Parts: sequence; structure tokens; C-alpha cells
Amino acid sequence: MGEANELRLAQETFNGKLYIREWQPGDGLRCSVGKKTTRVPCGPPVAVTLQVNSYRWRPNEDRYQRVVCALHLPGVTSAGEISADADKAARERLLVEHWEDYQRYVDEEVARRVEETIEFASEELRRLALGEHEEASR
Ligand SMILES: [Zn+2]
Repeated sequence: MGEANELRLAQETFNGKLYIREWQPGDGLRCSVGKKTTRVPCGPPVAVTLQVNSYRWRPNEDRYQRVVCALHLPGVTSAGEISADADKAARERLLVEHWEDYQRYVDEEVARRVEETIEFASEELRRLALGEHEEASR
């Protein structure tokens, strides 16, 4: 690696610069962004970033060095978006694979709620509601 793995400028904002280089052994294993997210586990570390912020009103810079996985590379992807999409797709796969169980659970939950709703209704209303529901679930 050596010279080829120098920090390179990746992003520049109003008061800061973000540098990035390839991860190498010794940098540490844990993605420092992923500690805050829980849904999708981080991948192996791929890069080290260095954020340098400078300010007009004070002489010192702030420097934050971080290890990041591919999911949390700055400017490449939105981890939140990926996480939400992955969660949605995973739920859909699970539901499709267990479609009959899913439908049965939905029916059971609907029936339970209908019964709770009409618990204190008049006899006639109860009969109507339960009758309608039984027809609907056939
Ligand atoms: Zn990560």
C-alpha cells in the first residue's frame, strides 16, 4: 500500500474537508458509523476517513478520523435508505414464503379486533357484525 494509500480529498463543504483512504490492517475493525444503527449489520472495514473542520473564529481545526464499512462510506450510499429497503424486501420475502400463515394471522387478528369492538354492542348488532365477518372470511 504505502504511497498509493495516502489520504485523498473526497468532499469539501463550507467549513470542512473530508479525506479518505483504503482501510489497512492496524486501523481497527469496527465501523464507527454503524455503532449507531442497528438494523443492518456493518460489513468489514473498507476505508478510513479524516474529517478536518476549520473555523474562521478560532485557530484550531477539528479532526475526526473514522473507520468505515462499505455501507457507511461517505457520499456513496445512504445507509438509512439501504436499511429501510432491505427491511421491506426481507419482510416481503418472508410473507410470500409463508403466505397462508400470514393470511391466517391477519384473519385471526381482524376477528379478535372485531369481537373486542362489539363486546358491548346490542345482541342484534353483535349478530350482524359477527355474521358479516364470518361471511367475509370464507
Ligand atoms: Zn458500517
